[in-house]
Amino acid sequence: MKKNDIFDLEITDMGVDGEGIGRYNGMTFFVKDALIGDVIRARATKLKKNYGYARVEEIISPSTFRIEPKCPHHRRCGGCQIQALSYGKQLEFKEQKVRGNLIRIGGFDEKEIAEKMLPVVGMEMPFRYRNKAQFPVGTDKEGNIVMGFFAARTHSIIPVEDCLLGVEENAPILAVIRAWMRENDITAYDEATGRGLLRHVLIRFGFTTKEIMVCLIINGKKLPAQEALVEKLAQMEEMTSISINSNTQNTNVILGDVTECIWGKPYITDYIHLRRTGDSLVGQAEEFALTDTAVAYRISPQSFYQVNPIQTEKLYSTVLEYAGLTGNEKVWDLYCGIGTISLFLAQKAKQVYGVEIIPQAVEDAKSNAALNKIANAEFFVGKAEEVLPDFYEKLRMAGEKNSGGAKEMLHPDVIVVDPPRKGCDDACLSTMLKMRPERIVYVSCDSATLARDLKVLCEGGYELKKVRTFDQFAHTLHCEVITLLQRVKG
Ligand code: SAH
Repeated sequence: MKKNDIFDLEITDMGVDGEGIGRYNGMTFFVKDALIGDVIRARATKLKKNYGYARVEEIISPSTFRIEPKCPHHRRCGGCQIQALSYGKQLEFKEQKVRGNLIRIGGFDEKEIAEKMLPVVGMEMPFRYRNKAQFPVGTDKEGNIVMGFFAARTHSIIPVEDCLLGVEENAPILAVIRAWMRENDITAYDEATGRGLLRHVLIRFGFTTKEIMVCLIINGKKLPAQEALVEKLAQMEEMTSISINSNTQNTNVILGDVTECIWGKPYITDYIHLRRTGDSLVGQAEEFALTDTAVAYRISPQSFYQVNPIQTEKLYSTVLEYAGLTGNEKVWDLYCGIGTISLFLAQKAKQVYGVEIIPQAVEDAKSNAALNKIANAEFFVGKAEEVLPDFYEKLRMAGEKNSGGAKEMLHPDVIVVDPPRKGCDDACLSTMLKMRPERIVYVSCDSATLARDLKVLCEGGYELKKVRTFDQFAHTLHCEVITLLQRVKG
């Protein structure tokens, strides 16, 4: 086989960027814009020893899962990778990926996984689910201001002011900002030269409160014609917070360190709540009603907050269900972020300890606990793999003399972990095993590292009880998985 050879290829899998994967003559081919189930005429574009890249010359027979994407920018935009795949097939693919990793990497038996895996939890409405959008601002060849999204793997901006994953409120806000830029000669930032003022527009929307936050990220300290912009934006219904964030560095990181609120509050408030009756997995935006287990969160421009509030509610309901709390339990919540899960657990547990590496997130967690009058959640800054072993060793050394609240946390009833993609560190896993909690609830955004860690935990005396996949990010390849482990050995 050589470059430009033409051959027929059946697409049987999907890669990390949503590209189609097919096998031909012992070689694996990666093909952009080809979907699982497509049979294509492919042209080889690049060849390596065992794999290669190919282009679609012609679709010989389209996949039965192929649909017309709703978004006209879908092929160029880097935001969604698999919008051309029917939503049902997207869910199936994600679930299969999780299953495959548990079997291949985790060493679990196929039959066991089939028994323990609950059906994937998808969205009722897989569009307009994001509560946060960050639009880069730039200038096109004709000199017009453009706001939108980066094209896949590049930094050229595709003008998409109404992304279908975001809320309808975004587009009119961007239109106001664009008009204000024109009227006041405000320049867009240019990455190549480091000149120009406006870099990004960050918009957050509280799904339950409808509060809106706008933050302009600027290459400078001051915003010219600030009053004119504030006047226009503040007129918009539900506008709650307007701020500027200064980022003068030549970097891909969106936000700089300093944020100044220029109108309204420096934060918006949103709620995540759990319904006490009925099917806890059913939740639609218009059904929001606060319950007595609702937790309020103050979200500032920098805060981490789950981007899909409807699915997050389903996710956290399941964490709570798997934790099996009755009111007496001691719980650790590792990798706790702003304490979102911790505060839910705290309502049903005796004591919760949260651990998180980012100091600002821990500050947010503490103020969210105070806001909700939750007194039985404590938070620690640091790496889970350091905080947990330190805590364990110190208390163990102190021996029986040491009594009281901290001692109780040595052997908690439940440990919840929600690590980033790389999963848990060995030191964290081995301390978890020493602490011997009755249950471990592992929330994961990467089923490969999840499978690796579950193997360690199961070899250390735990049994896998439940696995459930949640689609937090429709049209992308990401998903979340929650697993429940139960202690079996004394
Ligand atoms: N449970 C939270 C956040 C989960 S995201 C929620 O649902 O909102 C994972 C979190 O782990 C991030 O907040 C990240 O800052 C934190 N983190 C990353 N590495 C860590 C480590 N080694 N120790 C503790 N926290 C870590």
